[in-house]
Amino acid sequence: MFFAGIMSDGGNFDGITAIMVIFRKASALSAHLARLRSRGQRSGFVPTMGALHEGHISLIRQAKQEADFVVCSIFVNPTQFNDPSDFARYPITTENDLSLLLLAENDIVFLPTVEEIYPPGMVRRHYDLGYLETILEGKYRPGHFQGVCQVIDRFLQVVQPDLFYLGQKDYQQCMVVGKLIGLLGLEDKVRLRIAPTRREADGLAMSSRNVRLSAAERTEATSIYRALSGIREQLNKQPFPLLLSGAVSALEKDGFRVDYVSIASANDLRPVENLESGEPLVALAAAFLGEVRLIDNLLLDKRS
Ligand code: AMP
Repeated sequence: MFFAGIMSDGGNFDGITAIMVIFRKASALSAHLARLRSRGQRSGFVPTMGALHEGHISLIRQAKQEADFVVCSIFVNPTQFNDPSDFARYPITTENDLSLLLLAENDIVFLPTVEEIYPPGMVRRHYDLGYLETILEGKYRPGHFQGVCQVIDRFLQVVQPDLFYLGQKDYQQCMVVGKLIGLLGLEDKVRLRIAPTRREADGLAMSSRNVRLSAAERTEATSIYRALSGIREQLNKQPFPLLLSGAVSALEKDGFRVDYVSIASANDLRPVENLESGEPLVALAAAFLGEVRLIDNLLLDKRS
């Protein structure tokens, strides 16, 4: 049995022992967090789009260990969806999400409406992400990272977190958020923490979109992890172009429509053609299975 979180749009929570407090209003959340901050408490922030799974919860757990209290947002951000049907079909499982968060002993939930994040009349700024926005997810999902920056900029203002948690699953997003923190001049205030990708037993990266796969697609879906693992295993043995074309063919054979498979610098995501530079590498892939677009990546250990 759990105690239901307190739904609140404001008020002072001093003296109330709640397991988890849910805020819908940004101003009320900010005021509450300012009180905690004034007592020297360090916050950990985990932004999510809900439909929570073990990957999200691993971020909450890490934040619980490193911060004095944890704020998790659940907000399906319309501005980061370049495909309206992907937005319309994004799973919403708020009750289950709140139960999982309670079980993980999350402290505060921010569950805003779209108007709360984007008040009418709010001027939308453009973020100069440079090269990062022209490749991989930036190339195949035009406008996506501008939307990510809009929502994260707003969250940074409202939550003012000390520690900011992201999953390596969204590798390029981690880089974009790092760049955004620099653009906003917050690099001394906010520390990014990147958590490893949580996977199902067969290797498929956990994702809120996995529930949209049919049973047959779910079986095939593991091939994205197999393709990336194959690149990692063969890195020393085959030229990179051959590794990439092999991975694309394998995915296509398993029914995927491939956006990209890339071997890139783990530092800046520039494509890398061979092992000569000795820099750390990452293999990344994005591909559709039916109507569901999956992404994944693996850091490449050159010794393996
Ligand atoms: P999302 O709800 O998909 O926007 O994800 C919220 C956060 O959870 C992002 O920082 C993701 O990178 C992270 N995340 C999503 N899936 C996983 C996973 N399988 N393992 C670890 N972190 C994840």
